[in-house]
Amino acid sequence: MHIAAVVLDKSIDRPLDYSIPEHLASKIKPGIRVHVPVRGKLRKGTVLSLLSKTTVKNILPIEEVLSEMDVLTPDLFSLADWMSRYYATPIDRCLSSMLPASVKKDLKEKTEVEIQLAVSKEKIASFLQENRSRLAKQASVLDEMLKASGPMLLKELLNIAKVSESSIASLIEKGLLQKKRVKEQTTELEVDEFIPTPPKVLSLEQERTFASISSSLQEKRFATHLIHGITGSGKTEIYLRAIQEALSLGKASILLVPEISLTTQTIERLTARLQRKIAVIHHRLSDRERLKTWEAMRKQEIDVVVGARSALFSPLPHLGLIIVDEEHEQSYKQSEEMPCYHARDLAVMRGKITSSTVILGSATPTLESYYNALQGKYELHKLTKRPLDFKKPEVTIVNMNLECNKAKGLTLFSETLLDRIKKKLASGEQTILFLNRRGYYTSRLCTSCLKPIHCKHCDVSMTYHRGEEILSCHMCGFSLPTALEKCPSCGEKETLKYKGPGTEQVERLLHAIFPFCRTLRMDRDTTKQKGSHDRIFKQFRAGKADILIGTQMIAKGLHFPSVTLVGILNADSSLNIPDFRSHETVFQLLTQVAGRSGRGLLPGEVIIQSFLTDHPIIRLAFEDDYEQFFHKELEERKLFQYPPFTRLTKIVFSGTELPKVTRTADAYYATLKRALPKEFSLSPLHPPAHAKIKDRHRLQCLIKGQNTLLLSSILKSLRVKVPNSVRIQLDIDPTSTFF
Ligand code: ADP
Ligand code: ZN
Repeated sequence: MHIAAVVLDKSIDRPLDYSIPEHLASKIKPGIRVHVPVRGKLRKGTVLSLLSKTTVKNILPIEEVLSEMDVLTPDLFSLADWMSRYYATPIDRCLSSMLPASVKKDLKEKTEVEIQLAVSKEKIASFLQENRSRLAKQASVLDEMLKASGPMLLKELLNIAKVSESSIASLIEKGLLQKKRVKEQTTELEVDEFIPTPPKVLSLEQERTFASISSSLQEKRFATHLIHGITGSGKTEIYLRAIQEALSLGKASILLVPEISLTTQTIERLTARLQRKIAVIHHRLSDRERLKTWEAMRKQEIDVVVGARSALFSPLPHLGLIIVDEEHEQSYKQSEEMPCYHARDLAVMRGKITSSTVILGSATPTLESYYNALQGKYELHKLTKRPLDFKKPEVTIVNMNLECNKAKGLTLFSETLLDRIKKKLASGEQTILFLNRRGYYTSRLCTSCLKPIHCKHCDVSMTYHRGEEILSCHMCGFSLPTALEKCPSCGEKETLKYKGPGTEQVERLLHAIFPFCRTLRMDRDTTKQKGSHDRIFKQFRAGKADILIGTQMIAKGLHFPSVTLVGILNADSSLNIPDFRSHETVFQLLTQVAGRSGRGLLPGEVIIQSFLTDHPIIRLAFEDDYEQFFHKELEERKLFQYPPFTRLTKIVFSGTELPKVTRTADAYYATLKRALPKEFSLSPLHPPAHAKIKDRHRLQCLIKGQNTLLLSSILKSLRVKVPNSVRIQLDIDPTSTFF
């Protein structure tokens, strides 16, 4: 074994072989970061595996070792290998998406300068006596040093003595002080103190579910458990138990959550129950914090990790449990860049590689997962009751066509909803209102040519924000002043009208109708700052507002015991989107939002406003009947051949010059068509819903077929000339075919 296969950080699609010099032999193993020569230059890379022979002639040696520690656990290499083959992505890019930037930068241990006395205290004292008046600044340094009675950090000394570095330098020159480099004091990972909470007595359903999970944990057997539990049925309680059980077996756990900023409540519960350090991984961690967490995991100082999708790649040596909470959430899928991986699917794969127990939980599982469970691939567990006998909320559907007739025009609030809000305001109970559009008006439209004002960089209409008095593009952030004299498309004057309400408008109208109501709004506009999610939730939970208005953000697993009314203002707005997943998404959203009501001792109510009250999806959400929804939707998927009956791959071509994009896409398409075996079907090339985003024109095509590994290997081996300015993205198992 004196050859190492090394994957460079940036470069080529395959590992390169290097010989291992004798003096490095003991240090080189998979996961070690190294410098290797490539065409006369040193490049950074990661050792992938050790080999006993190579076909490379004139093999070059590894130049140096960059890290003492292997940065990934062996199972992550196997996972990267599978990702590369399944998601048709070069292995270096897969490894790269696993490693945080700070780990790739190979941050060296930081050192600091410490100052200490070089002579006895008596000598210092006599120096002070002689020179105090003449050298006031130096004297104040020495005073501080005497007070400290030990070494001090240079930066602290400068701060306390209020002098510049030159005063200290002269004292060193005089031989009175000396300096020393020391390792930077690392601050401990934060542990907030929480009052310990004892485990709850499990309900019968919880007990049965936990027993099954517990047995796969104890047998160290790979098994995937799907918990289909209505909102508030105690899934999180089971996660806590499972993590505790894993810990007692000496195993580490990963808990994936859809969005970390919305997870404070869960993390508090976890910390209170486990009473130990939990690593929380989120995108606002600094490089150094991230590196520290990474090292702590490698050294086994941490055995519980919570985070969004990339936390799946936590290098925990004794992994035994992976939990994917709200497994239906689309944020688990990386769609922006390759590898376009799905963290839930990778969680199952990593579970298989490490013989771990995997738990997927949701009130509204994806069709794919539920289908897998029915097929026996996953163990299915159902939680149908809320503990403590919280009643299921009472649901009312309001037909908005009738309401608009009554109001003689479009209206945002039905009479029923206004009436209930009024009652809640009177009784001091809280209300949540949901509208999945932010801004004041969602578009500005010309009544003459009927064209909305589009962003000049993207193929989307611009949203009016009244607070800032601008039209803004939600894709790229481009904005325009609202004072437009004429339509930019046809040039007609005074034809521009606003259309489509957003959350900002909901808030203003509420204040107009109920002048004394106190509102909070939660959407991407009000949560730009760090910690703002938390602040809004805390305020609402503390009763500082009567009504919380929000977008999708408020649909996620939040727990507000005093909310007794949830109003869904535009239940049907996404139903007509021609995407195979739009029914599923709407059903999930309605069920999740409705689940925010009645989570305390008071009974809850839900009001669903819709123009399509007879639409089966609205009906099923009203009846809260997942089973029926599943079977109905499954039939449609079968009829039109969509997942889970087949697998999809989306190929997106994009670039700033449309002719180049078209030419490349055509050439690629022709080659692909020749290479594809008959078992795959290929759609024609077409522009997606947003044909331009951030000045990049886009074209796409879809492939259907069963064998993804075969398809990926074909896609990887296609040889087509692609100009630098054109990007091709291979999206395996895309969440959407329309966008
Ligand atoms: P989910 O994750 O399914 O939404 P949670 O685990 O958050 O449900 O449970 C909802 C509420 O019920 C929480 O306040 C939780 O503390 C409580 N709870 C869960 N299980 C039990 C139980 N067995 N006995 C009493 N209360 C429970
Ligand atoms: Zn734009």
